[in-house]
Amino acid sequence: MAQDHKYLMTPGPVEVRAEILQAQTDWMIGHRSQAFAELFASLQEKLKHVFFTQNRVYVCGSSGTGLWEGASRNAIRDDKRALHLVGGAFSERWAEISQANGKTVDIINVDWGQNHTAEMVADALAQHEYDAVCAVHNETSTGVTHPIKAIGEVIREKAPDTLYLVDSVSGLLGAEIRADEWGIDILLTSSQKAMALPPGIAFASVSDRVLERAQQIAYRGYYFDFIALEESIVKNNTPATPPVSLMFAANHQLADVLAEGIENRWQRHLDMRQMTQDWVEQRGFGFFAVEGYRSPTVTCVANTRHADVNKMAAFMMNKGYDMDKGYGQIKGKTFRVAHMGDTQPAILQDFLNGLDEFLAQ
Ligand SMILES: *Cc1c(COP(=O)(O)O)cnc(C)c1O
Repeated sequence: MAQDHKYLMTPGPVEVRAEILQAQTDWMIGHRSQAFAELFASLQEKLKHVFFTQNRVYVCGSSGTGLWEGASRNAIRDDKRALHLVGGAFSERWAEISQANGKTVDIINVDWGQNHTAEMVADALAQHEYDAVCAVHNETSTGVTHPIKAIGEVIREKAPDTLYLVDSVSGLLGAEIRADEWGIDILLTSSQKAMALPPGIAFASVSDRVLERAQQIAYRGYYFDFIALEESIVKNNTPATPPVSLMFAANHQLADVLAEGIENRWQRHLDMRQMTQDWVEQRGFGFFAVEGYRSPTVTCVANTRHADVNKMAAFMMNKGYDMDKGYGQIKGKTFRVAHMGDTQPAILQDFLNGLDEFLAQ
C-alpha cells in the first residue's frame, strides 16, 4: 500500500485519519467564549453516549496518566486502602501512582498474560474494607481484556460503598464497556489509543459518589481536583486553559464514531481480532494472553517461531507500517498487532500480508 507517511500499527499512539488531523486547524477560539461553551456542550453530549453514562465526563489537557493521578487522589482517602488489580505494565504503573500520592495500596497480582477474576476480588473484599478497587480494562502490554463487568457486580454485591475505578485507555470505543450499567464510578481514557485521536487530551466519567468522597479529602491536588472541575463543567468550561484544537478533533471524531454506530465499531474490532487470531494460528505463532480474555483491540503475539522482531519491524517500515516489537519485560518474546481505532480490515490484511512476505524470505 503506497502511503505518504508511515501508518501506525502500534497500540498507541495509533493512526489518526487526515480529516481528524485537519479538524485541529480550525481557527482558534477563546475558551471563555460562547463558541467554546457550545463546543464543550456538543462534545459532552457525545462523550456521555460513548461512555454509556448519565454522569459528567471531565475533559483534561493531559495524557491518561494525569487522570490516573486524579482518580487516585479524589477517590481514595489517606487513612483508607485501595485495591489495585495488577497484571501488566500499565496496571502496575497505576498502583505506583496511588502509592506516590501517599495512598495505602493492596495489590492482587496475576502473571502477565493472565486475567483477574471476580472471585479474586470477592476474596479480597471479604478481608479488608477498601475505598476503591482500581482495574485496567484492556492491559495494552499483554493484550488481556479483564472481566470488568463481572468484577463490578461483585463489588456492588460485597462492598457497595467501595468505588470502582477503571482505566479503559486502549479499550473504550474499541471494546465493549458501559460505565453506568457496569457500576463504574470513574471510567478514564486518553486520546491516542482506541479513540484514534492525537495525544494530549484525556477524559473521565465520574459518578456523584466520587464527588461525595472527594469532599472528604483535604488535599486533592490542584490540576486534577474534581471539585474544581465540577464547578467549571456545569458552565461548559474548564478551570485552566483546555486543549481547544484537540477538542475540535475529538468532537469531529466522536460524531464519526456515532455515525458508524458504537456497536458496529465494537463488531469491527472483534472481526479484526478474528482475522489476527486466524493469522497467528495458521502461521504457527502463539498467543501471550490467556484464552477467553484476548483483547478486541490488540493481539500480543507470542514469538514462538523466534522471528527476528527488529528485522521484521525494519521490513514493515519499508512497506510503510510502523509496528510494535513488544513491551517492557516481554519485548522480542512477543510483538503486538494493534487492530484498534479507525483501522479497517483491508489495512490489517495488507499489514498481515506484509508480515507473510517477511516470513517467506
Ligand atoms: C497507554 C496507557 C496508559 C497511559 O496513558 P497515557 O495517555 O500514555 O498517559 C494507561 N493505561 C493503559 C491501559 C494504556 O495503554
